[in-house]
Amino acid sequence: MSEQNLSNHFAIETRNLNLFYGNFRAVKDVNLQIVPRKITAIIGPSGCGKSTVLRSFNRMNDFVPGFHMEGEILFHGKNLYAPDVDPVQVRQYIGMVFQKPNPFPKSIYENVAWGARINGYKGNMDELVEGALRAAALWDEVKDNLKKSGLSLSGGQQQRLCIARALAVKPEIILMDEPCSALDPIATLKIEDLMRELSENYTIIIVTHNMQQAARASDYTAFFTMDEDRAGVMVEYGETSQIFTNPRDKRTEDYITGRFG
Ligand code: ADP
Repeated sequence: MSEQNLSNHFAIETRNLNLFYGNFRAVKDVNLQIVPRKITAIIGPSGCGKSTVLRSFNRMNDFVPGFHMEGEILFHGKNLYAPDVDPVQVRQYIGMVFQKPNPFPKSIYENVAWGARINGYKGNMDELVEGALRAAALWDEVKDNLKKSGLSLSGGQQQRLCIARALAVKPEIILMDEPCSALDPIATLKIEDLMRELSENYTIIIVTHNMQQAARASDYTAFFTMDEDRAGVMVEYGETSQIFTNPRDKRTEDYITGRFG
């Protein structure tokens, strides 16, 4: 994360990434280059390692006993798993939004201010909270009720609150693990519109089961499947339009045309 590497071309680059739960290799030899300020979707059948890969990008798998990795995940040219890297700092640069919205049982304001308070933020907290809520397209709906519990909001609003909470610590990358799977279609489209807006300033990586969502909402798509040992492998990666209209690999074609998975 040093200054001289800030011009590094990719937001994240994996090199021969292998991810293990105990002896089980869940992800095998993934070489993926994430383009900055674009939306990249990771798709593939259940169990092919999509979430495992996503969680490895901000070291969320560190909490799983038996998890270990081989290879490299480069962020500004530095391996995120190098011994001198602080995982807490990694999660500040690389934030995450989960499948089920998970606001804290606190006010809307405190949900957003939370990370900044922990980091000892010295600036104007009201401005920070407003900016993050505006960026998450939630401000107009909550500005008169900032003291109300985050849990009082609708599911879609809660998910945007979680996005605001992630934005408030000024990340570069936002990981989204099936962020719309608990939402209705209208709330889903709102999140997709928001992702598009956010991609002007942030790199977004989304895991989704929903192929229409990947096709509509992403710029790049990585298709994963499982090999004969049930390890997740990346079959094909490219611009979303190419993956969905002109896949190069038969396995991608079979998946996107619904022949399996
Ligand atoms: P996907 O997101 O594509 O559905 P996952 O990344 O959740 O796939 O899982 C990939 C593989 O790793 C699966 O075989 C799954 O059972 C296994 N796995 C996931 N999480 C854990 C865990 N905490 N402990 C052990 N195995 C796990």
